[in-house]
Amino acid sequence: MGYLDEAAFERAMTCSCGGTTFEVSTYIDRHQSLMLADANDEGRWAHDGEKFIDGIYRMVCTSCRTPTFESADCPRCHHAGGLADAIGQMSRLVAPKRCPSCSNTEISIVGFAPATCKASPGQPGKPTPVALYGEPGFHVIAVACDACDWAQVAEGCPLCGHAGKLRVRP
Ligand SMILES: [Zn+2]
Ligand SMILES: [Zn+2]
Ligand SMILES: [Zn+2]
Repeated sequence: MGYLDEAAFERAMTCSCGGTTFEVSTYIDRHQSLMLADANDEGRWAHDGEKFIDGIYRMVCTSCRTPTFESADCPRCHHAGGLADAIGQMSRLVAPKRCPSCSNTEISIVGFAPATCKASPGQPGKPTPVALYGEPGFHVIAVACDACDWAQVAEGCPLCGHAGKLRVRP
């Protein structure tokens, strides 16, 4: 489990100023299809409410800018200070132009995209990606050929790159 569960998420939606709208920053799973290692479309979210909450690393009151939750640790593996190794950094795992096994040019990836949204109690809001595939901050978790069973998974933590044990996600 991440630092926030559903109950802690709801608790972080109260600010001493009385504000009830929060800017939420999170890392969530995104599917993307590629052609010759370039994005073939915009990609799509692949997450549920629990994963959305699990990836949260900051919540800020939109009225007074006070953070009601903040962590500098990696949201995926909790490596201390690991967030800085994810935000603004290029993905360590990259997709090949062609499948190394069957030379197919169509490859699918799942990655971690940083996203923000406006949330208020009972309304988690719709996340907007801050970085897409190929941009700093987006990290590829796994790559798979669309035509054969070739696949590759990021070594260590797909988000911060550290070798520590990955925690169980909801
Ligand atoms: Zn406030
Ligand atoms: Zn990590
Ligand atoms: Zn293949």
